Amino acid sequence: MTPEVGNTEPMSTAATSATIEWIRALPKVELHVHLEGSMSVQTVASLIDRHQLDSSSIWPDGLPDRFSFDGFPDFAKQFFFGLSLLRTGDDLATITADLAATLASQNVRYAEITTTAFTHFLAKGDRQGMAAEEYRDGLNEGRRRAAELGVDIGWVIDIPRDIEMPESAVTIDYLESNATPDGLVAIGLGGYEVGFPAAPYAEHFARARAIGLHSVPHAGETEGAESVRSAIDDLDAERIGHGVRCLEDPELVAELVDRAIMLEVCPTSNDLLQVIDTIDDHPLPRLRKAGLRVCLNTDDPGWFATDLVNELTVATERLGVGLGDHLSMQRDAVAASFASPATKRQTLLALDAISDSDQGPHA
Ligand SMILES: [Zn+2]
Repeated sequence: MTPEVGNTEPMSTAATSATIEWIRALPKVELHVHLEGSMSVQTVASLIDRHQLDSSSIWPDGLPDRFSFDGFPDFAKQFFFGLSLLRTGDDLATITADLAATLASQNVRYAEITTTAFTHFLAKGDRQGMAAEEYRDGLNEGRRRAAELGVDIGWVIDIPRDIEMPESAVTIDYLESNATPDGLVAIGLGGYEVGFPAAPYAEHFARARAIGLHSVPHAGETEGAESVRSAIDDLDAERIGHGVRCLEDPELVAELVDRAIMLEVCPTSNDLLQVIDTIDDHPLPRLRKAGLRVCLNTDDPGWFATDLVNELTVATERLGVGLGDHLSMQRDAVAASFASPATKRQTLLALDAISDSDQGPHA
């Protein structure tokens, strides 16, 4: 059966395989995905092998078939072990190409990928810090391999907010250097919000804006509406990573709507990191009903064992997003992206081909 493209009614039952295939074939963009959170079990295994490392303290029974964790500390332990595997520019090229391969298999045409430069520059344990030029060269090589797969990459380099302020200057100094990767489009602010407000980063973001970078901080994930307010007022945010807790403040919602600031929504991440109680409680329907611009994303697809097809499928099965809604949300995500005019045009043309087809998605 061919799913109706124009259907905007929620589906309360499991999506059919035809619907999932339609979602897979839909031309897509992803605007919120972390390079260091994208590593699959296979990629982790190959890096352990490459560097001859011992992972038994993290996975005593060997690597699992898919990652899972019991609460945030357990997640953090595995995540930081994964980070410790990234030792060379080649490693960064490998994980970028691996991520691009999964994006290409889902017909993702453009991805804005966040990477945390600071964590690679830092020497930690038996791992030496990476030189800025090696970091840049690794990202450039990964981006080149992604382009061969038909995936255009824009880079977002973020400041982790839960480090000392003097350390955060490392990132902005780097962004102002001539050792940044091709395709750099934005500055982000990541990490745990509680106890780490956005305002102290205002000067860093102003410097990044002055060199032409866009502003896409995380906010309203682990903290409430005030954090989103600060991201807009202090960091001049053009999109918000997560932002789901903006609903706590109707005035803020009205301003986000007025200013057409898009929220990068990541349902599985919110579920697994317990931002929400269950996926059925996810605020996506309320965000859309309020008139907010939203797009769907994976956040850390390797660690969360998800991909963009899964996020869109969950939104259709559980959160009332019809296939026609997916089409319009993808168009809107293209518009809110920082892709080149050529990439935007090509992606929109591919989306037009879907919506103009009266033969259904497989035509
Ligand atoms: Zn994120």
